Amino acid sequence: MLRLYNTLTREVEDFSAQQPPLVTIYTCGPTVYDYMHVGNWFTFIRYDLLIRTLKASGFEPNWVINITDVGHLTSDADEGEDKLAKKAANEGKNAWDIAQFYGDYFIESLTKLNFTPPTQIPKATDHINEQIDFILKLEAKGYTYRITDGIYFNTAKFPSYADFAQLDLDEQQAGARVEVNPEKLQANDFALWKFSPSDQKRDMEWDSPWGKGFPGWHIECSAMCLKYLGPTLDIHSGGIDHIPVHHTNEIAQSEALNDAPLAKYWVHTNHILLSDNKISKSLGNTITLEDIMAKGFSGETLRLLALESHYRTQSKFSYEAMRAAQARLVRYRNFAVLRYQQKGDYEEHLAPLELLTQLENDLNTPLALAALEAWLDQIEPSSHFKAAEIETRLKLIDNLLGLKLSTVPDISEQQKQLIKEREQARNNQDWTTADALRAQLEQANITVLDRLDGPIWQYLS
Ligand SMILES: [Zn+2]
Repeated sequence: MLRLYNTLTREVEDFSAQQPPLVTIYTCGPTVYDYMHVGNWFTFIRYDLLIRTLKASGFEPNWVINITDVGHLTSDADEGEDKLAKKAANEGKNAWDIAQFYGDYFIESLTKLNFTPPTQIPKATDHINEQIDFILKLEAKGYTYRITDGIYFNTAKFPSYADFAQLDLDEQQAGARVEVNPEKLQANDFALWKFSPSDQKRDMEWDSPWGKGFPGWHIECSAMCLKYLGPTLDIHSGGIDHIPVHHTNEIAQSEALNDAPLAKYWVHTNHILLSDNKISKSLGNTITLEDIMAKGFSGETLRLLALESHYRTQSKFSYEAMRAAQARLVRYRNFAVLRYQQKGDYEEHLAPLELLTQLENDLNTPLALAALEAWLDQIEPSSHFKAAEIETRLKLIDNLLGLKLSTVPDISEQQKQLIKEREQARNNQDWTTADALRAQLEQANITVLDRLDGPIWQYLS
């Protein structure tokens, strides 16, 4: 039984009560104006885990993750510059080139980090007509108004606006006296369509029934959810920072238009801290996937670190934590290579591995990893298990955790020969030769454990 915390009800609910197997799920993807930082990757790794868990629980997820390549302003609300336009200006490039480069980078990185391929990865700029159409329909229903810089959603027309994020609108209204845009009717009203500045030609701008401009940030998700997954999703997901503005606004637009709940479940991941600060570009403390790989860490190590903490808790990133995760991963990989080292016809059977049970409990990755390691404690180091049973368990672990344990390679025939020669030297009590061979193997990242029934090799890192 799959249980998930639902931000909508603020309770852990039985997701299995949904009608399996088809599940529609939408994840708010990246704004592609720069390399993504580890905090972004933690978030997406956790959504990939959700997809993997859904599949293992018998569901068939139809997963859409969008690419925001226009309209996301530096303030997350309706003030500031378009993030892509700002980056393009800083680098003397066109916003379209920035969008193409970092959009491609995101899609390539999904493969590099062993993500379950989403069904669709739609871009905001490929859905301008859908967004205009959405706004026209909202306009026809009386939810919009026009001010100098754009078309806005009138939140007063959507009485449950404050519910999802439990906002105190009076307090926000009072706090908005210094509001940059005094034409807005309510502080929380947000742009659906922004006009291009009259004195400036934007790289990205489109004609619309209201004038040349570009869509607000939130409308793309509402339009793409509707197009690809219908008026009501099974699961909508994103970072916890999306709750008060972006998701609240998506709900207002979509539910105003469709007269139906936007999503049955809302799943949100918490922040990642870096040296006790929230990771953000504005603080200048970002670490990218490339930074991590340049230090010799693999994507699987980053994935394992992301899984070490529960997605609803604040977790910390540090290189020290990465080194610890790498050591854990080496242990898992050395379980994987036992299948290359069977000794004789042993009849021992591997105990069942209860991974899915823990993940079905609101994606409890810390308990899942604890279960995996308690299970390894019973096994290691032994070569008495059937390779086929090890393969089955590796498949289970890989399907759920995506750590690519099944792909850990065997050592070469030449290295196996060195192990045999070392064993022979030990039998002859020729310790000098045995030590020299051990040193040679260690040069090749291989260590040998001497067991009563013969040696077992492992990788050192
Ligand atoms: Zn969104």
